[in-house]
Amino acid sequence: MTTHREPLSSVMETIGETPLVRVHDSPDEVPVYAKLEAFNPGASIKDRIGKYMLERMLERGDVGEGGTVVEPTAGNTGIGLAVAAGQLGLNAVFVVPERFSVEKQQLMRALGAEVVNTPSEDGMGFAIDRAHQIAEELDDAVVPQQFSNPLNAEAHYETTAPEVDEALDGDVGAVVAGCGTGGTLMGMARYFRERDPDTHVVAVEPAGSAYREFLGEDVAHEEYKTEGIGTHDIERNELFDPTLVDDIRPVPDRAVHEEMGRLAAEEGQLVASSAAANAIAAKRVARGIRDGEIDAPGETVVTVFADSSERYLSKGLYRSFEEWEG
Ligand code: PMP
Repeated sequence: MTTHREPLSSVMETIGETPLVRVHDSPDEVPVYAKLEAFNPGASIKDRIGKYMLERMLERGDVGEGGTVVEPTAGNTGIGLAVAAGQLGLNAVFVVPERFSVEKQQLMRALGAEVVNTPSEDGMGFAIDRAHQIAEELDDAVVPQQFSNPLNAEAHYETTAPEVDEALDGDVGAVVAGCGTGGTLMGMARYFRERDPDTHVVAVEPAGSAYREFLGEDVAHEEYKTEGIGTHDIERNELFDPTLVDDIRPVPDRAVHEEMGRLAAEEGQLVASSAAANAIAAKRVARGIRDGEIDAPGETVVTVFADSSERYLSKGLYRSFEEWEG
């Protein structure tokens, strides 16, 4: 795999082609590999969809150069869209409920975006409505809406999955990924299931999240600290196709907290909570394949480490479990 050794003309060219690294605490017979997405310029997996969605939307004429992208987002997607918008000659406005990470809002502003805060108690639904209202008031504006935009999953079908495929010479038995919008998992699942319909696919969510309602289960909704994955309203998760997954695995915050510490101390991986949840679930799938409990068409399990722990230090993720604000 090449990782950008040649001189590049723009930061846009540094999006993708991230390293794929072995998770050591996984069986030798069925190793787990993780894509290190903090290597992207905006330091998360969401740079991929920022670039991919905006380039396609410009090509299609959904928005013209000098136009504006308006997105309700609390986090990494805003940063990814802001990086791409700035380089593609687009303005960016993000509607962010107040309670979300101040660091992320500072980064969006530094990248040239405008941040409009909405009251936390009004929730994400209100932020979505406000984003559409702002877009309607502007001349040439578009709302990418990552939760329903097929380009989100397509970005991973076209970039993340083929990169993994090439790096592993096609030996992919299982794909395991935490679902926020579900874009990452859906794009990768579609790619590898087309290759081999038996590819084992597992969605990961924090315990207390409601993705398992897609399997017809009753779920007791609870708050969780793990950030970037999970849902409390599956109606919003329009991209998620339960027919593409074999299992949806909840991971408790306490296990995630311990795994974040272990990944840093033992493996030098400064990754955040969704990555730790993915590592836990992926290792479990790897053991299942090794022990013959899970049928898979390859001897490797693939996951993603979506972003870095540095983005959450102020929330105390390396302090005690009780001190971690989540
Ligand atoms: N991890 C982190 C840190 C994220 O910000 C996100 C996106 N919300 C995800 C995982 C999940 O990605 P997706 O939206 O593609 O399911």
